[in-house]
Amino acid sequence: MAAKDLDLTRSKRLFAEAQAILPGGVSSPVRAFKSVEGDPIFMQRGEGAVVWDEDGNEYIDYCCSWGPLAVGHAHPKVVAAIAEAAARGTTFGTPTVTELRMAQLVQELQPLAERLRFVSSGTEAVMSAVRASRGFTGRELLVKFDGCYHGHADYLLVKAGSGLATIGQPDSAGVPAGMANTTVVADLNDPEGFKELMAKWGEDVAAVIVEPLPANCGLLVQDVEFLRLLRSETKRYGSLLIFDEVISGFRLGPGGMAAETGIEPDLLTFGKVIGGGLPVGAYAGRKDVMDVIAPLGPVYQAGTLSGNPVAMAAGHATLELLRDGGWDALAAKGEEFERLLTPILKGFQVSLVRKGSIFWFAFQDPAPRAWRDVDREGASLYKRFHAKLLERGVYLAPSAFEVGFISTAHDSDQLEHTAQAIGDALTLAVDKTRS
Ligand code: PMP
Repeated sequence: MAAKDLDLTRSKRLFAEAQAILPGGVSSPVRAFKSVEGDPIFMQRGEGAVVWDEDGNEYIDYCCSWGPLAVGHAHPKVVAAIAEAAARGTTFGTPTVTELRMAQLVQELQPLAERLRFVSSGTEAVMSAVRASRGFTGRELLVKFDGCYHGHADYLLVKAGSGLATIGQPDSAGVPAGMANTTVVADLNDPEGFKELMAKWGEDVAAVIVEPLPANCGLLVQDVEFLRLLRSETKRYGSLLIFDEVISGFRLGPGGMAAETGIEPDLLTFGKVIGGGLPVGAYAGRKDVMDVIAPLGPVYQAGTLSGNPVAMAAGHATLELLRDGGWDALAAKGEEFERLLTPILKGFQVSLVRKGSIFWFAFQDPAPRAWRDVDREGASLYKRFHAKLLERGVYLAPSAFEVGFISTAHDSDQLEHTAQAIGDALTLAVDKTRS
């Protein structure tokens, strides 16, 4: 496949300008391309599966804004819903029908959401769910898993995966020890270790939080048995179980990983797809737990723009599209992608890890199941792989430990082009004598 000499003149100029005002030139760190030792590309426009940068280069996009765009860029129905809502007023600070209908749709799709509250990001959703757990149980400790990312609340920036791993900061500065000390870190895929940890701390644990499909340190698919153990052990010690479905929620299907595994967590957190590309998060779950939130209960949590009607309209339109055939399409496209790639990956020490429309290339074979087993060396190939893919019009997230996303807008030709490009890019990444 012919590679293009990418002209990124305008992106580079804009990045220089941005660095003079935005720390690192970006509004969120992984965007800065540091782990692939490049400069970020300024995107100008997106349509379906394709994005165009400021220099006019075109890419098939598998970052999809880090997950939210399950129906692709600028889907006409989503854009129309946003325009229609915005024309009626962008925010009121009162309840709205749009918010109510969205809540009802979420509950119809995920009945474990006996009660839910909207917030404006995944971070906020998790922070609030953790506060509710602490308020409900009267306990302080939180258990999380090494490599799982749950947003940037102080006590969650402990062994938190890709963004931190790739910029070489295992933890964040600015987090008081007293905050970090309220978090106990367990290993994924380690039932005995988890049982020991709960035997030691269980009585003080307010909640165990997990990405049931860990997707912030590569894609570390867990045995259902391990997830079931989290449920039984939390029940045994009177702790709550929180499924952080910010990535998996409404992407794998209506019920996310909870439905897929048949496990009922006490609380769930959502973000990304639920907002259809606008800033939305939500936390949800058992009525008795959610009832501790103000104004019903003593746990305070609020937001000026929570349940924002424009964002709710985008989320509602996206969930309807997914319900009306979107999830089936995502599953089929994921399978097609794997079918195309399987013969191409033969001969490389690379595993395609895939769950529905979420995928990750592990530069090791077999694929790891825990962050401690992820081969950081193999991932150094990713830098060249990523650059070679850009030259072939394929945009992957700029980090070896981030997952990729397929949308309903990716067609067979685009998937095929991508598979060929991946074959070429891997050959070049492995054989450094060729360019
Ligand atoms: N939880 C998980 C599982 C996530 O992947 C993320 C973001 N990548 C968050 C929480 C935080 O979401 P946000 O970036 O919207 O604050």
